[in-house]
Amino acid sequence: METILSIKNLNKRYGTLQALNNVSFDIQKGNVYGILGPNGSGKSTTLGIVLNVVNKTSGEYNWFGGTMETHEALKKVGAIIERPNFYPYITAKENLELVCKIKGINYAKVNEKLELVGLVDRQNSKFSTFSLGMKQRLAIASALLNDPEILILDEPTNGLDPQGIHQIRDIIKQIAAKGTTILLASHLLDEVEKVCTHVLVLRKGKILYTGLVDGMSANDGFFELQADDIENLITVVKIHPAVKNVVKGDGKVLVYLKDTLEAKDLNRFLFEKNVVLNHLVKRKNSLEEQFLELTKNL
Ligand code: ADP
Ligand code: MG
Repeated sequence: METILSIKNLNKRYGTLQALNNVSFDIQKGNVYGILGPNGSGKSTTLGIVLNVVNKTSGEYNWFGGTMETHEALKKVGAIIERPNFYPYITAKENLELVCKIKGINYAKVNEKLELVGLVDRQNSKFSTFSLGMKQRLAIASALLNDPEILILDEPTNGLDPQGIHQIRDIIKQIAAKGTTILLASHLLDEVEKVCTHVLVLRKGKILYTGLVDGMSANDGFFELQADDIENLITVVKIHPAVKNVVKGDGKVLVYLKDTLEAKDLNRFLFEKNVVLNHLVKRKNSLEEQFLELTKNL
């Protein structure tokens, strides 16, 4: 596994405000990471520090195993951390060519990246005529011109309409599918759930969870059951040793677990005790429920 970015015990204070509190994590090549947290949790501060635009108070970070100076390493990083800004009165294509000229990149990349973000049709339109979604897509194209190892995005869908949001998420998935590592900050659970493979949950500058997006909701889960005699169902299901508690509601019985239990095993157990189900579904807590669980009482 190749480590793109490694952060250890990063702290940031703005005066008396502790914006980051001992933040540590690693970014491995090929994954899509979401930094998920409410507004003010320190997402932009974290990105700013590793991009060398915000000074850290203490702690360490290194790019690509620490084999090169930060300013050299950052040439292999594509980042969009502010509202996209280009020259308003020249075209999208001309803006990207200008970026190529400044960075010494072959102009052939312009068309390739415009295609990726779906802006070939509008390449000859002035930047000033673009919608916010198109501006954001142009910014992504620009950040990708030199084929960076990693793309960093801060709240990439903020302020966009539903169609714009959908387009950006699709583009991010396409970029990831090509093998580019991605790190994105978002306060939107469903965004992280839809786009990312890995998640770091940040709250008040502290990491609460790091791991797989799937892992975050992979607890023991619960069952939704129905039978003609609900009271008898409740009495019987409570006997099972894997059952933690039973909640009645809405004509259904919700059965929470303290141990793993397969649907077929619960079904057999109940049937052997003369309880015949007419509904049985196993559910996992959603990422949202897990997120709320993680961030409450803090
Ligand atoms: P997020 O991106 O998760 O919304 P930020 O990293 O922007 O969070 O901010 C984290 C905390 O640091 C917030 O409480 C914010 O008000 C504070 N903060 C951010 N930038 C500055 C700054 N330049 N000066 C003072 N406080 C700041
Ligand atoms: Mg932010």
